[in-house]
Amino acid sequence: MKIVCATGNSHKVDEFNMLLDPMSTDLEFEILGAQVLGGMPEVDEDADSFYGNARLKADALWELASRIGAWVLSDDSGLAVDALQGAPGVYSARYAGPDASDSENVGKLLNALQGVSQNKRSAKFVCSLCLIDPAGTLFAADGYCSGIIANEPRGNHGFGYDPVFIPRGYQETFGELGSSIKRELSHRAEALQNLVRQLRV
Ligand code: IMP
Repeated sequence: MKIVCATGNSHKVDEFNMLLDPMSTDLEFEILGAQVLGGMPEVDEDADSFYGNARLKADALWELASRIGAWVLSDDSGLAVDALQGAPGVYSARYAGPDASDSENVGKLLNALQGVSQNKRSAKFVCSLCLIDPAGTLFAADGYCSGIIANEPRGNHGFGYDPVFIPRGYQETFGELGSSIKRELSHRAEALQNLVRQLRV
């Protein structure tokens, strides 16, 4: 079964491949980038939920994919901080402005949490996935990774908010822990597991 990822980002395609490989040996996926369909169409990610944005991306590619008998997989993810009522949420990538860098977003987050004590800095990464088969049947799943926001950035691994996110059960940030631990704990891995479980039913 061919699955086209609704993203123009080749790193995401590699990550899906790497995560799905060990958990789906019996399902025989072939994960492809949107370039096999001429590229990812421009999508306004203006929904108010991660699921809503993932759905917009999957819907944008579904018709083209169904014509070649392929499934579409999309994701949307971000960070939700409890003390900030779930912000930055769906605005995670552009929290400090439309073209904000990771360090500008992290800077804005640390400012917003200035003076907030350790026990009130709880947060979670969220990932929503949508998978649509060529007949239009939708499978959706979420995954979470809970932790707290550090007082300052630490470590050079990962991207986005990784240098300030300390996953539950650890003292170090994802920026310090590196990719193998993140792969085990990540919101994306959990969402994919939940999705694969539905396909086996
Ligand atoms: P997107 O789902 O790729 O659009 O990601 C949205 C934004 O959420 C990213 O630009 C990051 O700022 C943040 N984000 C999502 N997942 C992670 C993660 O695993 N680590 C750090 N930041 C993340």
